[in-house]
Amino acid sequence: MYRRIMTEMDVKLGIRQTLAKIEEAHAKRVQTMNVPKPLLVAVSKTKPVEMILDGYSVGQRDFGENYVQELIEKANDSRILEQCQDIRWHFIGHLQSNKINKIVNLPNLYMIETVHNTKLAESLNKAWEKVKTEKPDRNKLNVLIQINTSGEDEKNGTEPSEAVNLYRFVTEKCPNLNCQGIMTIGRLGHDYTAGPNPDFIELIKCHQDICSTFEKNPTELQVSMGMSGDFVQAIEMGSTIVRVGSSIFGVRAKKLEV
Ligand SMILES: *Cc1c(COP(=O)(O)O)cnc(C)c1O
Repeated sequence: MYRRIMTEMDVKLGIRQTLAKIEEAHAKRVQTMNVPKPLLVAVSKTKPVEMILDGYSVGQRDFGENYVQELIEKANDSRILEQCQDIRWHFIGHLQSNKINKIVNLPNLYMIETVHNTKLAESLNKAWEKVKTEKPDRNKLNVLIQINTSGEDEKNGTEPSEAVNLYRFVTEKCPNLNCQGIMTIGRLGHDYTAGPNPDFIELIKCHQDICSTFEKNPTELQVSMGMSGDFVQAIEMGSTIVRVGSSIFGVRAKKLEV
C-alpha cells in the first residue's frame, strides 16, 4: 500500500515537473521565435497501467509506447478504456509490417511517429482505408517521418537526404495519412559541454528543407526530438514534441530496453 502511494505521487509529480521545465524552455524560445508550446508525450513503455492512470488524472493525455504487443494490451485495458477516454496513444517504436493491422485497429491510436520508408507508409495508408469507415472522427491517421540523423545502423529512419522525398511520397501518395512532421531518436548520451546536439541540428535542417521545398509555414510541421536527458536542449533548438519516459515513470528494467 505504501509503495503504491509513493508510485502515484512520483508520476504526478514527474508530469508536473516535466511540464514546468517545458514551459520554461519554451518561454525562453518564444522571445526569439513564435512557436507553439511543445507537446509532452509521456513514454510509459514497460510501466504498469496504474502509472498511466495517475498521469492521466493530472491532465496528461499523450502517452508513448514502443512495443506493439504492450500497446495492444494497454490500449484495450478495461481501466484505460473506462477512465482514460481521451487518451492519445503515440507509437514510437519499430513497426513491423505483420503488426500493422493490429495497430490501426487500436482504440485511441493517435499517431505513428516512426514511418521510415515508403513501404511502411503505403501499408499504413492501405490499412487505414479499411478502418476509417468505423472511425468517423478520424478520416486520416497522423504520422511522423522518422529520420536517422545519427546514421547508426541499429537505428531506424530514412536518411536525412531522403526526408524531402519521403515527405512528398506520404503527402502525395497516401491520402489516408496526415503527415504532421518529422522525428528522430538520435545518438544517446551526447555531451552538451561539447556543443549543440548534432542530431538536433540535422533534424532542424530536414525541417527547413521540407518547409522550403513545399512552401510550408514552419510552425505547421512538427519536430519530435528530445527525451528525459535532453528535452530542454531539444526545445531550445526547435522541438515541438518531446518524448519523456524515465524522468516521469522512473528507470526501466535493463533487459526490456530495445
Ligand atoms: C524509450 C523512448 C523514449 C523515452 O526515453 P527516456 O530516456 O526514458 O525519456 C523516447 N523516444 C523513444 C523512441 C523511446 O523508445
